[in-house]
Amino acid sequence: MNKDEQDKAAATMAYVEMRRESIRRKLADVYLEYYDALCDELDGTYWMPCSGLRSIEEQLALYNKGRTQESLAKGERIVTNARPGFSPHNWGCATDWVENKPYFDWSDMWKKSDWVGLGSAARRVGLVWGGDFKNIVDKPHVELPLKCPWSEIGRIYMASGKIVANEAILQNALYYKL
Ligand SMILES: [Zn+2]
Repeated sequence: MNKDEQDKAAATMAYVEMRRESIRRKLADVYLEYYDALCDELDGTYWMPCSGLRSIEEQLALYNKGRTQESLAKGERIVTNARPGFSPHNWGCATDWVENKPYFDWSDMWKKSDWVGLGSAARRVGLVWGGDFKNIVDKPHVELPLKCPWSEIGRIYMASGKIVANEAILQNALYYKL
């Protein structure tokens, strides 16, 4: 690597670390141990979270993609089956990742990322990887392992009208503890 390339690599790595920290700040406590373990697995790589906690409003906007007339008119497709409150992102228990290598074009990143590398790192720390999903395969996605479907957690949200006491609910539902 020449000096320019070294500088670019160092700047990209600093950006990746900043993203890991800023996304981390809004995650649920119950997910943090897994998240940190995944970051340790990905240490020295350019894997970077691009999304973590997602509000109910943001989830509704995603759910509407490919479903409302307005969205269909724009040619959008369905991207999620999770209604607001039914996604682990709404609980701060999921992250989406992309490999931000210094020489990648942003437009190429989704094609070029080594998804198998992310998936195996996620599995090693006991997280659920969206690349293993049967319905909508979601390779950037990593989530907390639960004994029950997230729709059950979502129903608790629907009943209360807001996300409350999620730590206790999620601790009870955890598939296993690290
Ligand atoms: Zn996701």
